[in-house]
Amino acid sequence: MRTPLIAANWKMHKTRPEARSFLLAFRPQIDSVDVAVAPPFPLLGTVAELIADTPIALAAQNVHPDLEGAFTGEVSPVMLKELACGYVIVGHSERREIFGEDDAFVNRKLHAVFAHGMTPILCVGESLQQREANETEAVLERQLREGLEGLTADQVARLVIAYEPIWAIGTGRTASPEDAESGARFIREQIVKLYDDETAQAVRIQYGGSVKPTNAYELMSQKNVDGALVGGASLDPEAFAGIIRETARV
Ligand code: PEP
Repeated sequence: MRTPLIAANWKMHKTRPEARSFLLAFRPQIDSVDVAVAPPFPLLGTVAELIADTPIALAAQNVHPDLEGAFTGEVSPVMLKELACGYVIVGHSERREIFGEDDAFVNRKLHAVFAHGMTPILCVGESLQQREANETEAVLERQLREGLEGLTADQVARLVIAYEPIWAIGTGRTASPEDAESGARFIREQIVKLYDDETAQAVRIQYGGSVKPTNAYELMSQKNVDGALVGGASLDPEAFAGIIRETARV
């Protein structure tokens, strides 16, 4: 049985007082769903303190694969581990599209995150253009094959993969539950091919793309969908708690 993971990706939002008031208001009190919050880097320490006595896990939005060095503006896995991060989002489509991260770089990050005892949330997904050109499966297949290169079955069993069709991110245009399920199912089938059935049954596959309390139940009811990566709706404590409550009803 896979425990769903609902993760908040705050992106470049919230000041310290805003993070504080979010976490004072956000008390979902649900044990059947794992919850993580990924604030911007400067807020990791503050959020770590605020969630210290709660089951909420801390997540980072990005990481550099090297441990230290002349990489101005970057943050290493050692630094994230020191701040008690449990999860690290890797390969988000905004990193791939805006900052030019390719699958080989994403792969190095995954190795670095595992090497420091944290769990990567690997984002994969097709653009609208790729979807319309019927390339969704080819894109997912490549992102998984190249992204997971060299990882062991044991690591992949602990991995979280977020299926995030790019056309549904921040657009208010949610994938239908059937689209979310078919993407997640295809990803699981690729894990069977690259690894084995046992590994594929263990890996958690989230859906991401305009998830809200009003569509969460249907999306989270899909057989291969094990939670959500939430952007916009995770900025509001009531909306984020609503998504968690809807997931717990499944
Ligand atoms: C995301 O950026 O990972 C995301 C899913 O954003 P939104 O929920 O705003 O579509």
